[in-house]
Amino acid sequence: MSKTAWLVVDMTEDFVATNGALTCGQSGQAIVDPLVKSLTKARVQGDLIIFACDAHEPQDAEFRLWPPHCIKGTSGAMLYGAVKNFYDTYRSDSVFYLEKTRYDAFYETNLDDLLRSHAIKNVHIAGVCTSICCYATASGAYYRGYGVYLEPTLMADLTDKDHNYAIQHMRDVLKAQ
Ligand code: ZN
Repeated sequence: MSKTAWLVVDMTEDFVATNGALTCGQSGQAIVDPLVKSLTKARVQGDLIIFACDAHEPQDAEFRLWPPHCIKGTSGAMLYGAVKNFYDTYRSDSVFYLEKTRYDAFYETNLDDLLRSHAIKNVHIAGVCTSICCYATASGAYYRGYGVYLEPTLMADLTDKDHNYAIQHMRDVLKAQ
């Protein structure tokens, strides 16, 4: 069976912590425990685990649309809580962090090469926000021929409406399972 990669999107202080700059708040915090449980299992199975996180320059063009968030080197750009603990404990050549600057973790990163070098065929998307960076990253994976997997309980969004719509949309147009 081919290996799976987990693409854990934007589980950072700014997107999840109560005082984060662009936070999902409680809905983001609610996925932390189930996510860490799933990652623990995935790691034991030998899956690749990639924490793909915004890492913006202070003047990033994205800040014309959103409040400044996840600026490189700030605490807001750090992984959140138990997700950070997991990363700090298990970081290795199969558990690692990937900086991204756009919603889609494939955009101007080496993610595709990296997945191919590990012979990955399927990706499991988790994290925040369901309708923005998770959706964009799932689309990026689909365009490149990867099978897309998701669980609604391992993603969160700014609103439930956006979350539910994006889950259904990914199932409908990206064949997400
Ligand atoms: Zn951003």
